[in-house]
Amino acid sequence: VTTAEMQLRALARPPRRLLRRAASFLVGGAVILLYHRVHDTDFDPWLLSVSTKNFDDHMAHLRRHYAVLSLAELRAGVDAGRVPRGAVCVTFDDGYDDNLRNAKPILERHRVSATVFVASGYTGAGLEFWWDELERVVLHAPNVPQRLTVSSGGATRAWDTASACAATVSERLSDRGWNVERPDDPTPLHRAFREIHRVLSTLPADEQAVALADLRHQTGSTSAPRQANLAMSRESVRSLAEGGLVSVGAHTVTHPVLSSLPPDAAAHEIRQSKQDLEQLLGQPVTSFAYPYGYRGAYTERNVADVRAAGITDAYSNFGGAVRAAADCHQLNRILVRDWSGEAFARRLRWAFGD
Ligand SMILES: [Zn+2]
Repeated sequence: VTTAEMQLRALARPPRRLLRRAASFLVGGAVILLYHRVHDTDFDPWLLSVSTKNFDDHMAHLRRHYAVLSLAELRAGVDAGRVPRGAVCVTFDDGYDDNLRNAKPILERHRVSATVFVASGYTGAGLEFWWDELERVVLHAPNVPQRLTVSSGGATRAWDTASACAATVSERLSDRGWNVERPDDPTPLHRAFREIHRVLSTLPADEQAVALADLRHQTGSTSAPRQANLAMSRESVRSLAEGGLVSVGAHTVTHPVLSSLPPDAAAHEIRQSKQDLEQLLGQPVTSFAYPYGYRGAYTERNVADVRAAGITDAYSNFGGAVRAAADCHQLNRILVRDWSGEAFARRLRWAFGD
């Protein structure tokens, strides 16, 4: 047998690791859950909060009925061809301070491991995330002007808010169940909020900050963040990772829509967030979650840059279980809402296809 023949045979044989991976994932798959906040609130326009009671019920249910794995254990299971039936992982995006204050004690009580993907530019900045600040300066505006304007790239857009001028904040927000997924807008301010979010989400962070400062000025809002909405401090991120139950992954620096940035700026966001967190924690950070995570939020080039940065596993957000031959740099997650324990149990069964 010549060397050339041996090489040919090797090429014709699928790598064992791939076969094992396919076999293990064909049995039901794994479900990776995506949370943002564990926070008790009666007004949540972005639907990011799960109440402490519901989160406690979710974790108790996972412990009782599923094989809860850390992302590292899932990866090891995939490589070894041994992913247990009913494998579930818990993740959080963004790095809200309530992940430490509210989520971690519940995770500890149920011995559920989790990974928190942190937007490193917000860490220790004492700021609300930009979408929360937008909510504060628009929906909770002390003074509603006749019209709101946003200027970017030499163009100015305006929203007529005159009919909302007279209402108090509590009158304006009397429909506490309103959220951005609802088709209706109770006041022109709600509509402006929704549309300004769309404009700001694709701006680079510096232009976004200018637009937010301008909106603060227009609405008589202060720059003081709401304490309950703060991103974690540097100390909080360290405390979160202490004990090994919770690990930290990267989520860019400023939380941009990566596909809307010039490729080099996007690559910098990816590399820098990994470095920032490694420096903060004194240990390697090898997982990454794409901000927003929908299909158009990142490009193939961004995926290649994530891989080149030394990230071993990266996570998107377009629903569904992780199945055979999954791309480890675009693993699906399921967005969890403020579901009751019962609704959570039902959704998980669906996710596994039962
Ligand atoms: Zn995010």
